[in-house]
Amino acid sequence: MTITTYIATIICLVIVVYLCLALREAYRKRVYRRPFKEEWKKILQENVPLYLLLPGDLRELLHGHINYFLHNKIFVGRGEQIIDDTIRLTIAGNACLLVLKRKQRIFTGFKTILVYPDTYAAKEVRYDGYVKTQHASARAGESWYRGPIVLSWSDVIKGSKNVSDGFNVVLHEFAHKLDEENEVMDGLPILQKQEHYAEWSRVLNKEYGEFIERVGEGKNTVIDSYGAESPIEFFAVITESFFEKSRPMQENLPDLYSQLKQFYDVDPAEWRNKIKDSD
Ligand SMILES: [Zn+2]
Repeated sequence: MTITTYIATIICLVIVVYLCLALREAYRKRVYRRPFKEEWKKILQENVPLYLLLPGDLRELLHGHINYFLHNKIFVGRGEQIIDDTIRLTIAGNACLLVLKRKQRIFTGFKTILVYPDTYAAKEVRYDGYVKTQHASARAGESWYRGPIVLSWSDVIKGSKNVSDGFNVVLHEFAHKLDEENEVMDGLPILQKQEHYAEWSRVLNKEYGEFIERVGEGKNTVIDSYGAESPIEFFAVITESFFEKSRPMQENLPDLYSQLKQFYDVDPAEWRNKIKDSD
């Protein structure tokens, strides 16, 4: 192969890759812009009260993300569970709240969402030295690294309908998916700006330490104490509180709220303030 042929081949390859990426992006945009069905809006209004709090422009963004999400993800019913639009929209509507302002592809690296009708039993293996024990533990949901999300429908709907208790298994499990986007699940997701990492690390470490102390003293309120399991779970439960206990978090833990506001690029406390102001 002459040097000229070699260069021509490289240029052709670059053009082909560029065209493939451009076509994929154009297709993604087309899926985003698909008209959002009225019956889907009704399901969101009925089952996802956070949807009702969203300002109009964010609702439009959410519709686009849901279109893309439903186009890409596969829902599989387990046990007796039948998958219908109510289930698909309720799960997608909550999950996509986490990526409202994202411009790139969302929730990459996995395809499948398994849905059980109710809380399900998962095998848990524990080691004590060389002694291995196995037992079943009841689960409302779980997120497998680079694998499926598993959800209990009864817990999904309960968590979604109560918008102020800080428990929302969909927000929790999909926060884990954001956490693993940088290949490491450690409670540190990919931040949009490089300069944000130092501040995030300082504030989150301080807040996690104080949270552990509060849990130990029985004085914890805003965040589910399950977050004390690890920084990974801490990130998932503060995400639930950020969207569902926005005002208490903003008032009691303003530094933590501010970090999550930067990360998710939305202000759920403000959505609630607007509702209050218009009363
Ligand atoms: Zn978790």
